[in-house]
Amino acid sequence: MSTLTSASEAARRELNGGFAGELIGPEDAGYEEARAVYNGMIDRRPALVARCTGPADVAKVIAFARGRELPLAVRGGGHNGAGLGTCDAGVVIDLSPINDVQVDPQARTVRVGGGCTWGEVDRATDEHDLATPSGIIATTGVGGLTLGGGIGHLTRKYGLAIDNLLEAELVLASGDRVRVSADEHPDLYWAIRGGGGNFGVVTSFLFRLNEVGTVIGGPTFWPVEIGAEALSAYREFLPNAPRELNGFFCFHTVPPAPPFPEEIHLRKVCGVVWCYLGSEEDAAKAMAPLLDALPEPLLHGPHPMRHFELQSAFDGLYPPGDQWYWRADFVKEIPDEAAEIHARFAADMPTMKSTMHMYPIDGAAHDVAPSDTAWSYRDARWGSVFAGVDPDPANVGAIRQWSIDYFEALHPYSAGGAYVNMMMDEGQERVRAAYRDNYDRLARIKASYDPDNVFRINQNIEPKA
Ligand SMILES: Cc1cc2nc3c(=O)[nH]c(=O)nc-3n(C[C@H](O)[C@H](O)[C@H](O)COP(=O)(O)OP(=O)(O)OC[C@H]3O[C@@H](n4cnc5c(N)ncnc54)[C@H](O)[C@@H]3O)c2cc1C
Repeated sequence: MSTLTSASEAARRELNGGFAGELIGPEDAGYEEARAVYNGMIDRRPALVARCTGPADVAKVIAFARGRELPLAVRGGGHNGAGLGTCDAGVVIDLSPINDVQVDPQARTVRVGGGCTWGEVDRATDEHDLATPSGIIATTGVGGLTLGGGIGHLTRKYGLAIDNLLEAELVLASGDRVRVSADEHPDLYWAIRGGGGNFGVVTSFLFRLNEVGTVIGGPTFWPVEIGAEALSAYREFLPNAPRELNGFFCFHTVPPAPPFPEEIHLRKVCGVVWCYLGSEEDAAKAMAPLLDALPEPLLHGPHPMRHFELQSAFDGLYPPGDQWYWRADFVKEIPDEAAEIHARFAADMPTMKSTMHMYPIDGAAHDVAPSDTAWSYRDARWGSVFAGVDPDPANVGAIRQWSIDYFEALHPYSAGGAYVNMMMDEGQERVRAAYRDNYDRLARIKASYDPDNVFRINQNIEPKA
């Protein structure tokens, strides 16, 4: 019997009876599906995938993994680029069965299971013309995205996902269950708002909801050849735009499919993906300064749609299973030389799906001070990500090299650290750089809640009393 199989057999013996979920080991038919995560480049073979149905299951699996000194990974939506929702030869707590969503339109809150994806949440809140800030892809997990911060289409108006997190329920490394909020375990409430999965397994989140009905969403594309000019114009424009307008700058290759007109299929472009909260007329006014500053676009596509539709607009282009390698950095300024470097790498995007996104993190995200939550970079204006993406594993070398070269060329112009949710496995110094002055406080909180670093398959904060 292999080591992997013996661990899953032991789990069946020790957990069965009291465990309400599903245990999947290498000997089971569902193992290949159960071990797969979003990034096709991640090929890990856990000894056990434990699909948990609630906090009691989670506590049992934590105790099992600790008792056998097995590595323990926690999986929300499985989207993490570095594959932090799985592990080799250890135990994976898969939270996907914990996916209930309860909207309270009167209280303007939504209670969300720790294994939900954003598509599930956004559809439920949309029925009430309400939303909480999420990301830009519906299949991303609420768990990882929120605990790392949460940047998306609603950031400028309503802040990061964590700025709307009112309460969470966690299972700690000890197996104890706690609820955290401004009034209960405020230190832990502070730490989980940006500190990732370092402190426990969140089985339930409570978010504030905001008025979000129909939005004006979609892209404007210009030829990639004017990339530097467009980025320089955008850098002047965006900080002065009203908070109702979110627009992230991007480089893309136009997918050869509807709704894009055939004449621009497979054309490399620069552009902005918009989300305006208000009328079409006001959206046009808010976007006008940028459109007036640049030549006629190849495509100007913003139109009325529901927020959840915009939030799933990239889902078709980026299904699970593609190879992903990305690097990221926070940015305070975009000098002309940096814009030129961007344009050079954009012209060389190695595959049709490779991209650069620059997400605004100003507006409401700046209303919160760097030390108010664990998420330190409140003084940055953008979070940029250089993502090499392709379905073909043969292209891994090319996409990886392009991302690293792009990142290294621009890192001198960055604010120093990166958004933890868009980092690969880049070492402890990069984790520290992501948290800056908040790191030591996080390390102390980690020491009191997880002194043995049981939750270490993440952008790890090492416990230090
Ligand atoms: C295509 C794509 C688009 C993205 N778009 C955005 C975006 O618009 N905005 C943005 O902010 N980020 C975005 N991200 C980054 C995303 O936030 C991270 O990849 C995040 O880690 C995904 O969370 P997950 O739960 O799906 O991942 P997982 O791989 O399941 O988990 C990631 C980490 O979070 C921990 N974790 C997850 N759930 C829990 C939980 N309930 N309790 C405790 N720990 C938990 C895991 O242990 C792991 O360390 C995107 C990623 C991809 C691949």
